[in-house]
Amino acid sequence: MLLTILKEPDPRLRVKAKPIEAVTDEIRQLMEDMLETMYHDEGIGLAATQVGSDKRVIVIDLNSGTEEAPEVFYMANPEILWHSEEKSTLKEGCLSVPETRADITRPAHIKVRYLDRDNQAQEIEADGLLATCIQHEVDHLNGVLFIDYLSRLKQEMIHKKLKKLKKFHAL
Ligand SMILES: [Zn+2]
Repeated sequence: MLLTILKEPDPRLRVKAKPIEAVTDEIRQLMEDMLETMYHDEGIGLAATQVGSDKRVIVIDLNSGTEEAPEVFYMANPEILWHSEEKSTLKEGCLSVPETRADITRPAHIKVRYLDRDNQAQEIEADGLLATCIQHEVDHLNGVLFIDYLSRLKQEMIHKKLKKLKKFHAL
């Protein structure tokens, strides 16, 4: 089922999500709906916060929108256990912040623990785009958007643009 993606400045994007007790059928259904919604909008990651759920759940597929076979990460209660001092800067976008991209600097390597789709605990190390994507999605679960890292001036410009876009879409 396609879900509705909340758009900035929706206050629900600022809600801190709560840990789940276990990955149940209900959570698996949420994961599948989120994945379908993410593919529909050609994103590579989506957090439950973006569809108005307060569960700590994210889905990621870096091959979304390509010819490559899907490589899906289902993560419940993702926890970043370690991050490197080394940073990397990548251009980020977000399905909740339309038509906006910006260079964001984050730790280059991370170690993350989570529950997978089968409620099994997993621990992986990630770098490159996967590391950036996981950090971006975990931020969502904490009510943080990538544009929060930009200067106040840049944030104001983005909000002005989003307001205009909203008016346009209302027609
Ligand atoms: Zn996002």
